[in-house]
Amino acid sequence: MDKFLELREAVSDFIREREWEKFHNPKDIAISISIEAAELLENFQWRDKKEVENMLDDEEYVNSIIEEMADVMIYLIALSNKLNVDLIDASFKKIKKNEKKYPKEKFKGNAFL
Ligand SMILES: [Mg+2]
Repeated sequence: MDKFLELREAVSDFIREREWEKFHNPKDIAISISIEAAELLENFQWRDKKEVENMLDDEEYVNSIIEEMADVMIYLIALSNKLNVDLIDASFKKIKKNEKKYPKEKFKGNAFL
């Protein structure tokens, strides 16, 4: 089975087995994505760039970042399952759209014009 499809099913099973479907409406899942993104940010709060770079050798620190990234991903998948959206297709489409919005000829080395 496709690994992403397997992950979509694992998220769906996890929710169904706990009878959490009643909590999983699009609004609350979107809120949860934002909360998990904030938890990801907590790993960087009050630390400057150099401090963070130095901490990337610390397995426990990196693992905390990875776990919050996974939490964001899990809720994104929960929302895409709920809305019956193929998040991989949607992401490829958005990259194409971004390529048009930010043509490399104009934006190479520049975040804005
Ligand atoms: Mg979390």
